[in-house]
Amino acid sequence: AIWNLGSINADYFYRVPHLPGPGETIAATDLTRGLGGKGANMSVAAARAAAHVAHIGAVGSDGAWAVERLTEYGVDTRRIQTVDTATGHAIITLDSRGENAIVLFPGANMNISQNAVGLALTEAEQGDILLMQNETSQQAFAAETGSKMGLRIAYAAAPFSTESVGAVLPFLDILILNKIEMAQLHLATGLMPSADMGVDTVIVTLGADGCALYDRSAGWVPQHFPAVPVTAVDTTGAGDTFTGYVLAALDRGMTMPDAIRLAAKAAALMVTRYGTADVIPDLKEVLDLG
Ligand code: ADP
Repeated sequence: AIWNLGSINADYFYRVPHLPGPGETIAATDLTRGLGGKGANMSVAAARAAAHVAHIGAVGSDGAWAVERLTEYGVDTRRIQTVDTATGHAIITLDSRGENAIVLFPGANMNISQNAVGLALTEAEQGDILLMQNETSQQAFAAETGSKMGLRIAYAAAPFSTESVGAVLPFLDILILNKIEMAQLHLATGLMPSADMGVDTVIVTLGADGCALYDRSAGWVPQHFPAVPVTAVDTTGAGDTFTGYVLAALDRGMTMPDAIRLAAKAAALMVTRYGTADVIPDLKEVLDLG
């Protein structure tokens, strides 16, 4: 099973004639609401990839619909708390040229209690995967607790923060980050994917160029995996889909190279679609790609 300590956001997309300036009020011509947050996206991806995924997180009293939607997508939502803060949300204004300006309120995602994380993890079994990203509270506590229990600890270092990665790094088995995040980590710490990092497996995603796998068992010699060539229309959620699929495949006993190849297909399908959690492809669609 996969335990995902992750964010749950409501993404509100407002269409506006132009992005508002200081002091300006403009009427939006359209509003759509979608399920978002890296955590929720990865839970949905892993569930669509046929893993059992239990989401650990929090919403406010306004977030029942988001929990319901996660449940519909096959995510086990029983460890999601309802707390006394608004559900995390993003107010995304989009102008006619596709330019955007975003206000993000982390809200309930930053009010996940240590108690709730500890309680959820008592149900995890040795060999299960604990996944985290950098959009919630309790990452370091969860990483340390999970590591002591013999869980495999995976971390997607996004949005990047040196302090957050630093706090979980000693406990990680798998680190997944894109090339910009890898450059930031290197700049801040001097670390490269190698024995010095103390993480057995590092995957650096390279967008349309695929990804590089660095593994202790391969003596840290990078192995490159190409992306699946497609015409991309919207790359949001590519990394989240990739990560959810890789971990689901590993949890189901696939080897890392096979897991990466499957995830690259899922992420390629994802970039041909507009949207986030609601359009993550399921395993059958991915396998049908051949
Ligand atoms: P992030 O979304 O976190 O920035 P990347 O852009 O590196 O991550 O994308 C993650 C994965 O998604 C890549 O390793 C690749 O497999 C796939 N991917 C991303 N962009 C494309 C693309 N244009 N064409 C095909 N696959 C893509």
